[in-house]
Amino acid sequence: MTPTRRAILRGLLASAAVAAPGAGLLARAAADCDGSTTPRQTPGPFFTPGAPARSDLREPGLPGTPLLIRGEVVSTDCRPVPGVRLDFWQCDAAGRYDNDGFRLRGHQLADAAGAYELTTVKPAAYGGLLFRRTPHIHVRLRVGGAEALTTQLYFPGEPTNDRDGLFDPRLLMRLDERGEGLVGSFRFVIG
Ligand code: FE
Repeated sequence: MTPTRRAILRGLLASAAVAAPGAGLLARAAADCDGSTTPRQTPGPFFTPGAPARSDLREPGLPGTPLLIRGEVVSTDCRPVPGVRLDFWQCDAAGRYDNDGFRLRGHQLADAAGAYELTTVKPAAYGGLLFRRTPHIHVRLRVGGAEALTTQLYFPGEPTNDRDGLFDPRLLMRLDERGEGLVGSFRFVIG
């Protein structure tokens, strides 16, 4: 990573910590929790089991807009669910999945407050005329080894969202620009 990119990311993380502390997210979650669970979506064909434990998916030389996603996992009665295993996987900034190794794949455990934090790069749209995917990030949540939720997260304002048959506005992240990067948030509600 170049010094410039490192500085950008440091600034991104610092401003996110100030603007969106975990306690604030939880307070907001409780305020607008209506008891409905996060919609499920297909894992698609590109899930690879056994991804390493890591919350930062970036690797040296990996191009793309820095993206930080923070949020929490709560139950339908708005209580934090600690220790949930979250597996994230996505394509790169050129729309390519790594189906041989674990590039842009990783898992982490939600902390005692149900919070998670993923550092990555923004994925590109991919596909052709017949099969067009708008930018998205796949995620699978497991509790005690049992599947709790598989879904996908989407980016607001993408022109390709409405041309993607899988797109669901309930799965849009809140997204802010911070310097040259993006900071998103999403709360998962599991039954
Ligand atoms: Fe995909």
